[in-house]
Amino acid sequence: MDPLDSLMDVFRLDGRVAAITGGARGIGYETARLFIAAGARVVLLDLDDRAVTEAATRLGPAASGLRLDVSADDDVARAFESIVAEQGRLDVLVNNAGMALRRPTIELSLAEWQRVVDVNMTGVFLCARMAARHMLHAGGGVIVNTASIMGLSGGGLYPNISYQATKGAVVNMTRALAVEWAAGGVRVNAVAPTWVDTEFIGPLKANAALMDRIRQMTPLGRLAQPAEVAHAILFLASPASAMVTGHVLAVDGGFLAQ
Ligand code: NAD
Repeated sequence: MDPLDSLMDVFRLDGRVAAITGGARGIGYETARLFIAAGARVVLLDLDDRAVTEAATRLGPAASGLRLDVSADDDVARAFESIVAEQGRLDVLVNNAGMALRRPTIELSLAEWQRVVDVNMTGVFLCARMAARHMLHAGGGVIVNTASIMGLSGGGLYPNISYQATKGAVVNMTRALAVEWAAGGVRVNAVAPTWVDTEFIGPLKANAALMDRIRQMTPLGRLAQPAEVAHAILFLASPASAMVTGHVLAVDGGFLAQ
């Protein structure tokens, strides 16, 4: 057989189990759909109880859903223990749940700041820690974090300090955890998307002038689609990226290249 016939197999996830936080909608849901097409079983983990159940039902027998708040230590511990107990393994974690409170810094309360830190930064720590306890014991695994172009730039179109701070932390946690866990066979990478057409940017889409500015500031001249981010996540989660760790892959239409 020509080795090229099986070339695309390096993107497959047959027999693997993937946990995807924020999996009820948007980028997380599209990633789940793609992972299933690549042969994986997926567990969607999301704060929105009803949406996660509906999403898992829509995705069919290869998917299940669990409610959790990524910032709650007990929720995270329970969820990961139940995944390993029920699925028998955990090969991939996509640390994708996130939130934004876009406000001028001088108007942002400490409680608001803290909530974004808890979800976007501490949530990544808690889920990565639980997943890695299992993966290191099992001899390997893969973690993909969803950072943002706002973790690598100062933005400029509107204030969003808690988001920029926490996504910057996701970028550097990706590097540090990759180095810490490399010898244990656990790879850790991130995607850094530009604005993606999901509910997450609903409030921004209501402002047509702002959306024009976003397109003007993006060399490819448009928003990303959630599936385009999922494609990059699949690359980082699959054997196709076996020699890649500690990397932050921009999916940004050239935004950061400027
Ligand atoms: P989305 O709003 O479509 O989906 C986010 C999901 O995360 C929701 O289902 C929500 O219920 C869940 N979630 C929120 N807080 C949670 C918590 N504490 N615990 C568990 N689940 C929680 O958003 P999206 O656009 O798919 O965003 C996914 C990730 O991509 C986020 O980390 C976001 O910061 C990042 N991102 C989004 C964009 C964008 O423009 N949409 C750009 C760059 C990065």
